[in-house]
Amino acid sequence: MRNKKILIVEDESRMRRLISDYLKKDGYLTLEAEDGKKAIEIFEDANIDLIILDIMLPEYDGWTVCRKIREISSVPIILLTARSEESDELFGFELGADEYITKPFSPKILVARVKTLLKRVYPSNKNMFSFNGLLIDDSAHKVFVNDLEIVLTPKEYELLSFLAKNPEIALSRETILTKVWGYDYFGDLRTVDTHIKRLRIKLGTQSHFIQTVRGVGYRFEVQK
Ligand code: CA
Repeated sequence: MRNKKILIVEDESRMRRLISDYLKKDGYLTLEAEDGKKAIEIFEDANIDLIILDIMLPEYDGWTVCRKIREISSVPIILLTARSEESDELFGFELGADEYITKPFSPKILVARVKTLLKRVYPSNKNMFSFNGLLIDDSAHKVFVNDLEIVLTPKEYELLSFLAKNPEIALSRETILTKVWGYDYFGDLRTVDTHIKRLRIKLGTQSHFIQTVRGVGYRFEVQK
């Protein structure tokens, strides 16, 4: 799954950088705009997942930016403002902002709010198994290595999916054969080895997920 892209709109560069640094530390991608006009330009060009929007801005203010963006998108918006009057808050919600954070705020709290909001707006697919550099989409039977789809045979897919759903467990060849090929399969245990070998080649740089357990079989290793 690609990292979420967050647009930070704030004219005060120190503040902008601070927010950006905190978000990047948490694995988000960030884009920055120092005024309202630029914010809209960036928003129209980039695939933004969330906007952190200051109210007091040059060019267009935050209210205007919020209204203009709402005309074209339902992207989550968190408003930042030094003003804490309730009327402003209500105004923000009327314009379609999702959250409201009053300055001064702790960057950690902001990051936590971002995380919660993203989870609410983009609920993660339960059928996605996501590891560092490896994504298994169990609904579509698709596998992505470093964001690029790799093509697996149905058996290779079942094998990988079975391993990934049983992480950190040493699985014997017998178990794998039974679960992936079925009880009535009469092939020999080397079938597992040949499929593992092909799977590792296809996983390339991410083949480390499949570890050999000597004398037993294989283990899907999440920690590198
Ligand atoms: Ca400002």
